[in-house]
Amino acid sequence: MTDDAIREVIVIGSGPAGYTAALYTARAQLKPLVFGGAIFVGGALITTTEVENFPGFPEGIDGPDLMANMRAQAERFGAEMIDDDIVSADLTGDIKTVTDTTGTVHRAKSVIVATGSGYRKLGLPKEDELSGRGVSWCATCDGFFFRDRDIVVVGGGDTAMEEATFLTRFARSVTVVHRRSTLRASQVMQNRAFSDDKISFAFDTEIAELKEKDGKLAGLVLRDVFTGKTRDLDVTGLFIAIGHDPRSELFKDQLDLDTNGYIEVASPTTRTNLRGVFAAGDVVDHTYRQAITAAASGCSAALDAERYLAARS
Ligand code: FAD
Repeated sequence: MTDDAIREVIVIGSGPAGYTAALYTARAQLKPLVFGGAIFVGGALITTTEVENFPGFPEGIDGPDLMANMRAQAERFGAEMIDDDIVSADLTGDIKTVTDTTGTVHRAKSVIVATGSGYRKLGLPKEDELSGRGVSWCATCDGFFFRDRDIVVVGGGDTAMEEATFLTRFARSVTVVHRRSTLRASQVMQNRAFSDDKISFAFDTEIAELKEKDGKLAGLVLRDVFTGKTRDLDVTGLFIAIGHDPRSELFKDQLDLDTNGYIEVASPTTRTNLRGVFAAGDVVDHTYRQAITAAASGCSAALDAERYLAARS
């Protein structure tokens, strides 16, 4: 089935980037149609508790409340929401088409892709339920909550070293757990971490179990990858820094992606290689990955789409 309407703009994604793009395009009278996804409606922040670094909320705000506010603000100006996944897209023509899980084809003159990225997980039991309760994927977001605590950072790349070094501002001690005997991080990042008195290393080691007490992380069981021997580590914080995957799979044959799968844009604009297709938020950004930066680029994408549509007609 094909929806009769040819929309001005379709937004794919309901995180800070998607909702901000929806708000701006709605206020510009473009009547955006927003696909919010089937499961994570509201994006990554619906999986967290308190957000303390989004400007405008001096006391902080719960992630789901922040996203509900963004959605209501976009709807107030006429954004139409469909909480479903897009399963295929043809973005190459003058009129773009996207298909949802019911098989309905939706058409638009422009598309804003704001599908975010997923943090890689360890795949351990209780990992999801302890998210925001001792387990985190973002030191910039959550480091402040770990003052004077003993914590672990798992990973061996630049991000892991950066997170570990940053977390020493708050934590009493940081143990870097890495399953290999050497780090992948650049020499500069390694040197910085090695010379920090608060950081120690557990090489050839993986996390075998997350221990929980009263709904919070209460310790870890570590395992030597060669001997299989396990030991307890008494920590109340775990930062998982083993990478993230941009959700760009659907578009990989049409949009230019970098070697890690992030959508390439003609920075500082949000223009992709296809006319009328714009991309914003964490599916583009491997550097900052914050709600406010995602929202900002959603705004840019809306303005870019608006200008494209004005020039097109
Ligand atoms: P996302 O928020 O990831 O949203 C992507 C959207 O795309 C989702 O709605 C998803 O359902 C949708 N989608 C994906 N594929 C499809 C598809 N095929 N069809 C339809 N929809 C699709 N940042 C901060 O600034 N402060 C914090 O305190 C903070 N805490 C965090 C805590 C946690 C646990 C996590 C995971 C992240 C946190 N972040 C924080 C980071 C922040 O959430 C992200 O940087 C931000 O959400 C990225 O916004 P986005 O709109 O690009 O993508």
